[in-house]
Amino acid sequence: MRKLAAGNWKMNGMTASIAEARAVSIAHPNPSVDILLCPPATLLSRMAESLANSSVALGAQDCHPAACGAHTGDIAASMLVEGGASAIIVGHSERRADHGEGDATVKAKAEAAIAAGVVAIVCIGETLEEREAGRTLDVTRAQIAGSLPAGATAANTVVAYEPVWAIGTGKVATPEQIAEVHADLRATLAGLVSDASEMRLLYGGSVKAANAAEIFALGNVDGALVGGASLTADNFNPIIDALEAAASASS
Ligand code: PEP
Repeated sequence: MRKLAAGNWKMNGMTASIAEARAVSIAHPNPSVDILLCPPATLLSRMAESLANSSVALGAQDCHPAACGAHTGDIAASMLVEGGASAIIVGHSERRADHGEGDATVKAKAEAAIAAGVVAIVCIGETLEEREAGRTLDVTRAQIAGSLPAGATAANTVVAYEPVWAIGTGKVATPEQIAEVHADLRATLAGLVSDASEMRLLYGGSVKAANAAEIFALGNVDGALVGGASLTADNFNPIIDALEAAASASS
């Protein structure tokens, strides 16, 4: 399968940031991995124009489960697709925490993304409290079972494992912790979808140039969802390079 380097800009990025995305595309004119940047919705259509026919695809960070309607301040998946998104992140831990989104909501959002014709990137991950209580795999199994959209396939769904305690904290999970969860996720997915071996499993949580190669060398890690280090080309480009190196080593 083709590996994926995905960047989540979160609530960061003004017009000047479009140049960062362009610098990523210029550094990777013909990448051997998929590159995706998920800017705030306000930048999507302008970035789509700026990056037309480039190697960088665009995604969104959330969508509403409904196709349209009276939901002030929300954005439907089809609107994001019209703006240039080819993927939509759903269930990021910041949305789960800030907006009280549970698995059923995340599943409905993922289904809305797929209905709009794009890839759903479904995020799951345990809190520090859950890990310290020895409940990590119980939590990730329940989240994946509850959040995976109906009709999920490797073509329309990506799963991102992001331990909540590792997001934006500078604390990265150890290779053993990542490998354990990703192997378990692959096995769990095998009971839920018919093409589990082809479904991309991303790791997310303080991925940066200094730790990317070690993470990408792990089995069942098919790329990364990167927050802070995706905001500048200087930080994101070496992560993409590390993923390309891992892809060529495993092919
Ligand atoms: C994220 O936002 O999904 C993320 C993993 O953030 P960071 O890389 O900054 O930890």
